[in-house]
Amino acid sequence: MAVTKISKKTKAPTADPLLIEDNSNPFNSMMQRLDQAAKIMNLEDDVYQVVKVPSRIIEVSLPIKMDNGRVKVFGGYRVIHSTALGPSKGGIRFHPQVDEHEVKALAAWMTFKCAIAEIPYGGAKGGITCDPKTMSVGELERLTRAYTVSMSDIFGVDKDIPAPDVNTSSREMAWLMDEYSKVNGSFTPGVVTGKPLLLGGSQGRVEATGRGVCTAALQAMKKMKMNPKKTRAVVQGFGNVGSISAKHFEANGITVVGISDHTGAFYNPKGISIKKAIAHCEKNNGTLKGFKDAKEISHPELLELDTEILAPCALENQITSKNASRIKAKLIVEGANGPTSADADDILNKKGVIIIPDILANGGGVTVSYFEWVQNRTGYYYSEEEVNNRADKWMINAFNNVWAVAVENKVPMRLGAYVHALTIVAKAIRARGSY
Ligand code: NAD
Repeated sequence: MAVTKISKKTKAPTADPLLIEDNSNPFNSMMQRLDQAAKIMNLEDDVYQVVKVPSRIIEVSLPIKMDNGRVKVFGGYRVIHSTALGPSKGGIRFHPQVDEHEVKALAAWMTFKCAIAEIPYGGAKGGITCDPKTMSVGELERLTRAYTVSMSDIFGVDKDIPAPDVNTSSREMAWLMDEYSKVNGSFTPGVVTGKPLLLGGSQGRVEATGRGVCTAALQAMKKMKMNPKKTRAVVQGFGNVGSISAKHFEANGITVVGISDHTGAFYNPKGISIKKAIAHCEKNNGTLKGFKDAKEISHPELLELDTEILAPCALENQITSKNASRIKAKLIVEGANGPTSADADDILNKKGVIIIPDILANGGGVTVSYFEWVQNRTGYYYSEEEVNNRADKWMINAFNNVWAVAVENKVPMRLGAYVHALTIVAKAIRARGSY
């Protein structure tokens, strides 16, 4: 698989002041784990050379007319890491921090996530470096449509299928589907997942990632003999993944004592009503700012709260060598992609903390995205119950497979997950052969 690199420019990513600094970018963090896994399984170099580089990197410039009449040029990316197991699949992120390193890491994680979930997809990711919180709906729509046109020869039902990620939702996916359908000349719902129900979305997709995070945590709790009713959880990030994870924790008897988003962090040792927190967000432009049912604390404090479960559901590199030794949770379930740096892993592993890694814990989203794609292709739509039952079964199966590989190799779950995923992807690469 040749590396195709279309246009390459350097740009300085805008740092998010809320992010805790780390010494490595997400791609390096991912590579450190991949190297370890490849060594454990004695992966032959021929295959490893293919897996460790993305198969395509596309960078585009998107000139957009802003509401003030001026043109602003945004940078957009799509990285296709692998198509060994099928068409590439992965979300699109709108964030000031989006850069090539981040998108490359996220694309590789998608390859491994799809392999673990046993769905016939490769991995990709896309992103636009922008600050959607300062943009109007009209500007966001023009940006999404311009990105879609630029990528119209990359996307495709059997080629590359995007989905929502940070700061994108069913609204952006509807614009993308509409624009792609116009370019393509026919209604093409299967080109993107996470669409509104009316336009071929799947029942259960909005809740799928958070629901899967909770299912994975419950499986680990069984192994760790933890009683949900005597268990506390802290959830960082209160967007799609964080709020739904918190909702399912609460529904399963777990007391959620801490929540946060980019506007603030909140703690109540007696438990926070997630219903109230979601209702607060709905009235407050999607943010927790001003939430009154808990005490406001700092962002770093939230991660270090006294709790049994910590679910980082925001962005990368939140748990690093700087704060890992102060983390009190004994179970970390990674709703976000890449929230724990490789250095932090070492510290947490030594402390005996169990980490359900991102490529397993948040795989519920892509699993239901796969169901959505299947439904679009067949034109037959499942009920919410059918989707949820299937997704729960797939998550439990994936959890047990990763747990078994980790036990067999006497390694933490993250390495077990990488070994399991690499084994599957390597088999596909060998079976397909090369020039
Ligand atoms: P989202 O945009 O819906 O929510 C992101 C949340 O993180 C927001 O509440 C935001 O305020 C918060 N946040 C940002 N910076 C923060 C900070 N420094 N401290 C605390 N909170 C902060 O995005 P999402 O879809 O929920 O995605 C969250 C994570 O989950 C990302 O890593 C994403 O890649 C991953 N993920 C998402 C899906 C999905 O289906 N949406 C699937 C798999 C993985």
